[in-house]
Amino acid sequence: MRWDELELETLAVRAGIHRSQFNEHSEALYLTSSFVFKNAAEAAARFSGEDPGMVYSRYTNPTVASLQERLAAMEGAECCIATASGMSAILACVMGLMKGGEHIVASQSIFGATVQLFNNILKRFGVETTFVSATDVGAWERAIRPNTRMLFLETPSNPLTEISDVPALAKVARAHGALLVVDNCFCTPILQRPLDLGADIVIHLATKYLDGQGRVLGGAVLGRRDVIFEGLNGFLRSGGPTLSPFNAWVILKGLETLGLRMRAHSQTALELAQWLEEHPKVERVHYPGLASHPQHELAKRQQKTGGGIVSFDVKGGREAAWKVVDATQLISITANLGDAKTTITHPASTTHGRLSAQARNAAGLGEGLLRVAAGLEAASDIKADLARGLSKL
Ligand SMILES: *Cc1c(COP(=O)(O)O)cnc(C)c1O
Repeated sequence: MRWDELELETLAVRAGIHRSQFNEHSEALYLTSSFVFKNAAEAAARFSGEDPGMVYSRYTNPTVASLQERLAAMEGAECCIATASGMSAILACVMGLMKGGEHIVASQSIFGATVQLFNNILKRFGVETTFVSATDVGAWERAIRPNTRMLFLETPSNPLTEISDVPALAKVARAHGALLVVDNCFCTPILQRPLDLGADIVIHLATKYLDGQGRVLGGAVLGRRDVIFEGLNGFLRSGGPTLSPFNAWVILKGLETLGLRMRAHSQTALELAQWLEEHPKVERVHYPGLASHPQHELAKRQQKTGGGIVSFDVKGGREAAWKVVDATQLISITANLGDAKTTITHPASTTHGRLSAQARNAAGLGEGLLRVAAGLEAASDIKADLARGLSKL
């Protein structure tokens, strides 16, 4: 079977299966830290790499390998390396591919922990980061230095769903010999394949939509074999942030329903966005699937749908926004996303609370902003739950 001839939905169910001698139907879970060798010579050959078989689960594990193979097929990547969490995927990417004295240009609209990693930790090892607007291609170009090795972004961004122009930024990266890294958390390969758009590397927070039911942490880095495997494998083996086989198995099973789930999340999010846009107590809705979104046309070119995340500004600032949060009875008040359960968060006082008020304003994260990650409940029930608070304002 040639994977590149099959549809994504088929790959999500079928790619990466290697049955054991028992011919089990569901993917096997190899919960083992090490593997046994037939004799001393085989042990030596495994350790030297001459024999590609399994040695130790920090190096390789059959369940983790299945997940890597399936995800690589889905992203159209030559190679995938799975990691213990989304953050360790980003860490592995930088530690494996960069050295002290080099420079990153990153979108200013990236995940808070990624900003902390770049600013507070990597800086101590001589890697500097310049943050620029997610949507201003000229600003990326101007921020590039002779030592720039990596351009890093999330599209759509969190929580404002800004869309970065991946083909245009891929051109900028290539012209300067840098790698374009795209965190594909919000879309997953079902809605967007960054490698097809010209990116060099895709990062996944498997913790979110790939698992899809809020159970385990996991991450992955995907791209060309010479970049990903040569660059990251050594760091993973010696540094240790490898994915546990149990988590790999949960995510592998999660992928089977990813296509169905992403379409359902997107449909509900669009319905919520359209309803919120008409609501008198809502100032503005941020959703790439709405014609009012500033990068709606670009989103239509890059993504199959607007995705599952909707943000909106309520009139009346923090007080009003908190009222809407506190009036919910169904929606979970938690910062996680990509779950079957709908979640709501007030970014200015939670995920983005550490930013100065000035930095938040510059990023457009107002006090009235709420982010909803649409789950798989009936859209009518989610609407009614949000209406409870909105109608009291
Ligand atoms: C959740 C998230 C991460 C971190 O993933 P973990 O698995 O929690 O480490 C990074 N980037 C984005 C965009 C996220 O949403």
